[in-house]
Amino acid sequence: MADGRTHLLTPGAPVDLAAIPTTAEAYWPGTRDEARTAFRDLRKRFINLQRRFYAADDQKLLIVLQAMDAGGKDGTIRSITRGTNPQGVEVESFKVPSKADLAHDYLWRVHKVVPAEGQITIFNRSHYGDVLVVRVENLVPEDQWRLRYDHINDFERLLSETGTHILKFYLHISKEEQRARLQSRADEPHKHWKLVPADLEKRAQWDDYQAAYQEALTRCSTEWAPWYAIPADQKWYRNLAIMQVVVDRLEAINPQYPAPEFDVFGLKVI
Ligand code: AMP
Ligand code: MG
Repeated sequence: MADGRTHLLTPGAPVDLAAIPTTAEAYWPGTRDEARTAFRDLRKRFINLQRRFYAADDQKLLIVLQAMDAGGKDGTIRSITRGTNPQGVEVESFKVPSKADLAHDYLWRVHKVVPAEGQITIFNRSHYGDVLVVRVENLVPEDQWRLRYDHINDFERLLSETGTHILKFYLHISKEEQRARLQSRADEPHKHWKLVPADLEKRAQWDDYQAAYQEALTRCSTEWAPWYAIPADQKWYRNLAIMQVVVDRLEAINPQYPAPEFDVFGLKVI
């Protein structure tokens, strides 16, 4: 694996999802165990960086996760958040919009939950649903959803220009890997709750969803809010590749503990 830019979708370049591997071979020459060791080293750095990020309390980080059903969003969230200080990490899940959500513009529910200073917020699904499921299911007319790519770029630019760092990850799985994961949800009783009829309906529309993803990734990977397409058939590589990008960004931010408010060196507390 080269570095945190390996899976970056270059802003402005057309994305061809079918040409992007869903597996690790092309990127990770080592074994799975070696990848796990590398991941744990990165996670140690991440945990330290998050502690400083929370203490510094002057930057905001938004991590967006999108994937087909069973693409691994939940597992990714567990892998990123494990060992962090939960006061500085939020997870926001975007489900079917409520009546109140639908009575407003589609970004209303999103803007309310973007990160505050010192916070890392992970979006489990996001405003991209408004150009993905909404497009494939025809939930709003095309002349409306077509406007949204520009809205979204402008919204993310607003966030970026007001101090929010944005990283967006598309977890790229193959249709066969999705089949296997949905099958295991049917086979294993403790996973039954995760399988809903909509998963199978959406699987039947696989090509329409891939086309919708392709356009969203092409039009909305920007300098200020880049998309990364992460090969996600193997969870150990997915976790490693995402952690690499997050750590790279946090190391560039280089958050610092605030200076003490008075001269504490040599202080004796009595
Ligand atoms: P899950 O993430 O598996 O709990 O499912 C959440 C469901 O909410 C998925 O079926 C999404 O397609 C759906 N959803 C998310 N955002 C939207 C949206 N903007 N409009 C309609 N449905 C949505
Ligand atoms: Mg689901």
